[in-house]
Amino acid sequence: MSDLPHLLIDYLPIFNDNYIWVIGLNSADKTANIPHQNSIIMIDPGDEKAAAAYLKKHNKTLAGIVITHSHSDHVGGVNGLLSNKSVWADSAKQPVYGHQSIACVNTPVDHLPSFTPWPLHHVAFNIIPTPGHMPEHLSYFIDNIPHTHHTEQVNNYALFCGDTLFHAGCGRIFNGTAKELQNSLDTLQSLPDKTQVYCTHEYTQSNMAFAMAIEPNNTQLLQTSHNIDTLRAQHRITLPTTIQTQKAINPFLRYRLPHVQSQIAHLSAQNINNDDDAFRLLRVLKDTF
Ligand SMILES: [Zn+2]
Repeated sequence: MSDLPHLLIDYLPIFNDNYIWVIGLNSADKTANIPHQNSIIMIDPGDEKAAAAYLKKHNKTLAGIVITHSHSDHVGGVNGLLSNKSVWADSAKQPVYGHQSIACVNTPVDHLPSFTPWPLHHVAFNIIPTPGHMPEHLSYFIDNIPHTHHTEQVNNYALFCGDTLFHAGCGRIFNGTAKELQNSLDTLQSLPDKTQVYCTHEYTQSNMAFAMAIEPNNTQLLQTSHNIDTLRAQHRITLPTTIQTQKAINPFLRYRLPHVQSQIAHLSAQNINNDDDAFRLLRVLKDTF
């Protein structure tokens, strides 16, 4: 029987509440010879020292960097990693994928429908422009994660969405408009329900408090919030989440519901005439929550 490698997704916490996502190939069959099994991709390495220490500790080399947007907590480690030739799998190839407007990006992908970073054979990153937080923001959707017959059911869909969709929340509007962010989140919520969502920040607990102020009677939200509190009490990560869960609990995906709109109108003391008003006022409420 064939033994296709599966995707290994690991995380590295940096700063107070950021995660660097680490992607590589792995196999449940320890005897399988997977080419370049020790070479990995990092998403948004904001901290060079932490990234280099991770590579050393896990005996991995860096094959490429993927960037979601230009904020320094996402790109701050890139130039240091580019100068540190010893951490690379091949120092003649140091691809930094992302939007062409970002200074440290040397392999622009914003004009492409998808790309496959070496050595992730057959694992295409589909590019979804997600402006709103920042205009250049890109999200990356993988819909063909290979897995083996040895492993338990492995999800086939993964979304790396930076600071656009968070667990129970969404990114702030910096250089963008509420309408752009609204459209970006609508695009992300149209992905398959079982898509695993890997965002960049551990903001889940504070997002939950806001979500419960908007929907105090949402029983799934209350249950999820309880589970999140348990995880955080043990200093554990609350990610990934799924699109299905977000559709059930995240106010920024639920602003079209009449009871959500009434609560937004109540809390903001503003009239809501349409869905765009609801989304815009919801984001304003969160900014001052
Ligand atoms: Zn950001």
